Order: sequence, then structure tokens, then C-alpha cells
Amino acid sequence: MSRVLVIGCGGVASVAIHKCCQVSDVFTDLCIASRTKEKCDRLAAALAPKTKTRITTAKVDADHTEEVIALIKEFKPDLVMNIALPYQDLTIMDACLACGVNYLDTANYEPENTDDPAWRAIYEKRCKEEGFSAYFDYSWQWAYREKFEKAGLTALLGCGFDPGVTQAYCAWARKHEFDTIDTIDILDCNGGDHGYAFATNFNPEINLREVSAPGSYWENGKWVEIPPMSIKREYDFDKVGHKDMYLLHHEEIESIAKNMPEVKRIRFFMTFGQSYLTHMKCLENVGMLSTTPVLFEGKEIVPIQFLKALLPDPASLGPRTKGKTNIGCIFTGKKDGKEKTYYIYNVCDHEACYKEVGSQAISYTTGVPAMCGALMLLTGKWNKPGVYTVEQFDPDPFLDALDQYGLPRSENRAPELVE
Ligand code: NDP
Repeated sequence: MSRVLVIGCGGVASVAIHKCCQVSDVFTDLCIASRTKEKCDRLAAALAPKTKTRITTAKVDADHTEEVIALIKEFKPDLVMNIALPYQDLTIMDACLACGVNYLDTANYEPENTDDPAWRAIYEKRCKEEGFSAYFDYSWQWAYREKFEKAGLTALLGCGFDPGVTQAYCAWARKHEFDTIDTIDILDCNGGDHGYAFATNFNPEINLREVSAPGSYWENGKWVEIPPMSIKREYDFDKVGHKDMYLLHHEEIESIAKNMPEVKRIRFFMTFGQSYLTHMKCLENVGMLSTTPVLFEGKEIVPIQFLKALLPDPASLGPRTKGKTNIGCIFTGKKDGKEKTYYIYNVCDHEACYKEVGSQAISYTTGVPAMCGALMLLTGKWNKPGVYTVEQFDPDPFLDALDQYGLPRSENRAPELVE
């Protein structure tokens, strides 16, 4: 019997909520809260006839800690699932601490306004000291560790697929497959086709910021940063086929490097088609990816937010998207004194996801792990006071839950990634 407050009602949250409603014996009471309450009401009305979970809805602007505190006091949840945007991570964590509630999210903190001078000063110092320049990093949320420890609360960070399941795969490989791991390559392939010339599969602002930034990887105890999209590989993905993929900075590299310091190299690759890259380059060249406000006909607008308004809503891609995703990790290392490679991954079908929960596979592969992470916290399998990422917990019950609730793992003991 547990009460869960879900903040956000976009593509990912909608899948997580569908999935919570399939596990009504654990998720007995859900409150769906977002800025736009009508979206929450529509989802609640659609799910009510199909589930025993009692669903209520609320309006909240999670940029304001007091609003989240008021809602928590009213609903009295055991867990808050933050599936809004990374901009709200800290305000929601503050509210959880103020009310004594556990916390979970799917993406690490970044500020909405990267021009804020106070934030920028800390960011620039971090870039110099750490050696990577992504706008997001774990330092802001790791700074809450002691507060969560003292309060006896658990905060589980980045519990989507990547970050999230990819770190459970790392913990699994370390526990079951290797004595020592030398390299980890995280491969994120979307073989889906939505028929638009250009669209992003999740929140456009977050997605385009991530993809247009410099790439970086971890090697021999330090970050190596490279120009955007400057390292390319081709890989033959199971059930998808040959795809070009590019090295990106990605948040789980930072936490894996900290929690698995023996690993010599950690990289992240994502597949992109030529059309996506050409559109993105063009938008970047004309300034449409900028987060700095510009004055347009007497009104301030943020170019990337305006672009978001023009692009298809990621949630609308569901009925149009065909094909599969394939996301996983290739490891090299040693077992019983012998060199070994191992690949663990999940293949997910866009159309099957849409049939089941009305969303495409990108939202599905993020929303299902968020539900499974919540399940780990609510059933006492992953509770320890503090702030944690997924690789810090036992991967076995989590991967079992993913197998059961729609993201089964596949394994290959002879993968080849040609350098
Ligand atoms: P969407 O843009 O589809 O949805 C965001 C939701 O958050 C909307 O319901 C929006 O409400 C709500 N929201 C935004 N700001 C606030 C606020 N201030 N207060 C309350 N609610 C707010 O995003 P996605 O569903 O695509 O992504 C959700 C999260 O998942 C993001 O953090 C994203 O980075 C992360 N993600 C993680 C992945 C992983 O593998 N780990 C992969 C993909 C995404 P409104 O409609 O009113 O604007």
C-alpha cells in the first residue's frame, strides 16, 4: 500500500503512470500533478476504468518549492517521482526534505537559464576542474547527500533507461560477468522512423542541448572532451541493423566513473540519421538552439523555446513511429584470468509500446524504469539513506522487474565494436 506523487505529465510521465497503474497492489494511490492540470485530468480519466489504483490530480508549478511542499502536505505521499524537467530537480528535492519524503527522478539537474551569473560562476569553475562542459552534472544533487542521509530518506537519481538501466547493466556485469571491467561502451540506438523531416523524441529543449554540446568520455581517470559529433562509429544493432552513431557526453558516465573507478574507459554513443544532423546544424547556425533571450517585436523570446513550439510534440510521435530501439552496454574486461567481452541490451518496438500505453519507445524505455525504480524503493529493496544513482544498488531485482514489465534484457558474449 503506497501513495505516490508524480510530478509532470508529459511523454515519460504518462508511461510511468500507465505502468504504476498495472501494479495497483503496490501503487495504491497516485496523484498526478503538473503545471497543466487538464493533461493530468485527461490521463486520469483514461486510466480510471482500467486500474484499481486510486488516481487524483493537482496543479503545481514545481519551480516553486512552497507549492510542492503544500501539495506533499495535502497528499502525504511515500515517494515523489519527479518526471517533469531537470530544471525542477532541486526545488522538488528541497520539498521532499522539508516533508520527509523519498525522491526519484530521471535526469540530473541543469538550470533553465544558463546565463544566470551565479550559476555560471560555479559552472565555469567546474568545467576547469572537472574537464567537461555539459550544462548538467551531478554535483548539484550530490550536494544533498548529507541532508538526505540525516533525514533517513532515499533519493534515487536518473532512473530512466540512460541514465538508469544502463547503470544497472554495469552493476550486473560487475556482479555476475567480470572480475575486472576495463571498458564500457553505452550504445543508444533509435531505429524508429516517425515520418517527419525533423522532430525530437523527448523534450526538444533538453534533447537539442544535449546533442549540440561537445562530446566527452572518461579515460584513465580523466575526462577527454571533443568537438560535437566528431567521433563516429558504425554498429550492426540486433533487430535494427547498421547505424551510424556518435560519441556524446552523457550523465551516467560521471557517476559510473565515480562508483566504478577501476574502469579505464567509459564512452556513450547515440545513433543519428543524416537528416537529423543536417537540420540540427542548420538550426544551430541560425541561432535557433540558443537559450539566450532575444527581443522580437518588443517581446523577449528564447529561441530554443520558440523552436520547441514549432516542432511536433514528442507525445504526438507515438502513432506515427515504426521500428525499434536497441540500448545497452558493451563491456571488456577479465573473468577468471581470461579476456572477455559482454553485451547486455534491450530491444523495444515503437508500435508495440504505442499499442500498450499510447506512447513511442523513447518515452516507454524511460517511463518503465522510472516505475521499476519506484517499485524498488516502495518494496524496500533499494532503501538506504542518501542520494544514489542506479549502479549503487543491487541490479538483480530491478532487472527482473524490467523483464517482467516490458523491457527484457538480451545478452551477447561476442560483440564486436570496430574502432
Ligand atoms: P515533456 O516535455 O514531454 O514533459 C514534461 C512535463 O513536465 C510536462 O507535463 C510539463 O508540464 C511538466 N513540467 C514542466 N515544468 C514544470 C513545472 N515547473 N512544474 C510542474 N510541471 C512541469 O518531457 P518528457 O516526458 O519527454 O521528459 C521528462 C523527463 O525525462 C525529462 O527530465 C527528461 O530529461 C527525462 N528523460 C530521461 C531519459 C532517460 O533515459 N533517463 C530519456 C528521456 C527523457 P506542462 O505540460 O504544463 O509544460
